[in-house]
Amino acid sequence: MIAAQNMSTEKEPTNRLTTVAVAHGDGIGPEIMDATLRIIDAAGANVAFEPISVGEAQYLSGETSGIGKHAWETIGRHRVLLKGPITTPQGKGYKSLNVTMRKTLGLFANVRPVQALHPYIETHFPKMDVVIIRENEEDLYAGIEHQQTADVVQCLKLITRPGCEKIVRYAFEYARAYGRKKVTCMVKDNIMKLTDGLFHRVFDEIGAEYPDIKQDTQIIDIASARLATRPEDYDVIVTSNLYGDIISDIAAELAGSVGMAGSANIGTNVAMFEAIHGSAPDIAGKDMANPSGLLNAAVMMLVHIGEAEAADKIKNAWLRTIEDGFHTADIYSEKHSKKRVGTNEFADALIERLGKRPVSIPSSFLSEGSGKIALPAFTRKEVKKTLLGVDVFLDWPHTDAKQLGEMLDAAEKPGMKLKMITNRGVKVYPNGHDETFCTDHWRCRFVSSETLTTDENPEYAQVSMPQLLQLLDAIHQAGFDIIKTENLYAFDGVRGFSLGQGE
Ligand code: NAD
Repeated sequence: MIAAQNMSTEKEPTNRLTTVAVAHGDGIGPEIMDATLRIIDAAGANVAFEPISVGEAQYLSGETSGIGKHAWETIGRHRVLLKGPITTPQGKGYKSLNVTMRKTLGLFANVRPVQALHPYIETHFPKMDVVIIRENEEDLYAGIEHQQTADVVQCLKLITRPGCEKIVRYAFEYARAYGRKKVTCMVKDNIMKLTDGLFHRVFDEIGAEYPDIKQDTQIIDIASARLATRPEDYDVIVTSNLYGDIISDIAAELAGSVGMAGSANIGTNVAMFEAIHGSAPDIAGKDMANPSGLLNAAVMMLVHIGEAEAADKIKNAWLRTIEDGFHTADIYSEKHSKKRVGTNEFADALIERLGKRPVSIPSSFLSEGSGKIALPAFTRKEVKKTLLGVDVFLDWPHTDAKQLGEMLDAAEKPGMKLKMITNRGVKVYPNGHDETFCTDHWRCRFVSSETLTTDENPEYAQVSMPQLLQLLDAIHQAGFDIIKTENLYAFDGVRGFSLGQGE
């Protein structure tokens, strides 16, 4: 086993010493990691590192996930990982190490601060200073996809109450810990009333516990447009996985600094810190890479482990180095730079400035926030669940919805009736429109024949599971190809399923 090495040579190790697993990564990874570790050491941070091997070498040795048993065990022991970028080999069979790590280690929050460094780095938005907190485990990224008919594939969007509670509370706690003033929730609940609706509802519920923090909710499409045109209006943004993935790249690009941003992946027990860029094989080994993205990730890591003073020292020296015009090739410009430097010279210039603050860019005061974020365990509330019917999905390779409706109306249905048929969510039976385009994928909704319905508040009588099973058997016996079913439930009397468009 490789012994942990205390990076702080000037300080006596204390019992507060935190140990961290470190993966140098591929391509430019080793160069920028060496520079980063050198800076952390020079800043006197009270931290020790134990190296692990993940990425290309592991993939090529036959480990298809890019990580082996020893690395898992080391990460589990230290619970904090600083990771360089990884090269994912081309070709089938190799799984993304990042996705594997996020899911295996329960890294539920992806935190990406993006700050403009005007006038030293070109940007249209000099005052931009936003932190995007993206849910990291759920949503369409659960990766549950199926082809159901010749025409139709589906991807399940899974949003859970514990997932929403964790990420939303994390965002508010982050705002408090880092002295941020406002949290904006971004959803699309005008369309996805149940999934995005849950995210929005949880935001309102938990937000009520943080009256000291301003809060608002915006629809993701207009919110993205505003973020792209008025990023200064945003402070902390919390959103689900896919939206967060997209807007965090937009934000990084707007600040003019994709190569400069770091990110934190936070779990309940483990956290992983990395740059947002990849392994840049085109410049690997040339002492050209900008170590700033990884360094900013390391700054977040230091705050996470309670070394906020060292974090501020590094961040302020970094800002000063940028101000003083020592720029790597990716951010060099005749107008704003004094000297084009390589990775090592950048690190040397930064180390010389440890203890200094920037002159015109606001200084970093990470140590003024508590940096501590504790989340309560999830408690599931008891709910009364009532079975009200079933959506039966059929593969039926014809186009006449009326014909399908009449065939299903005629089939044997024990105490149940066909309520409607939709195609791609639009009601096509009864009373469909000839213009509606139909695929071979039909959702047929069956409810109790004792249904009471009003337009505003549909109420269905309860049905039993044996009734549903008999119904499925009858539909199968009538010659239909059932591809899946979704039960219709009410939870504490509230309808737990969406209506068809036009239902
Ligand atoms: P990339 O981010 O590695 O490079 C894109 C461009 O940005 C290149 O021109 C590169 O030279 C430049 N660049 C990136 N980081 C830089 C830095 N620190 N300093 C100066 N210039 C920098 O993206 P890519 O080329 O699409 O991917 C290369 C490899 O990285 C692929 O194997 C990809 O799978 C992997 N990747 C890994 C991660 C990760 O480990 N988190 C993230 C993204 C991509």
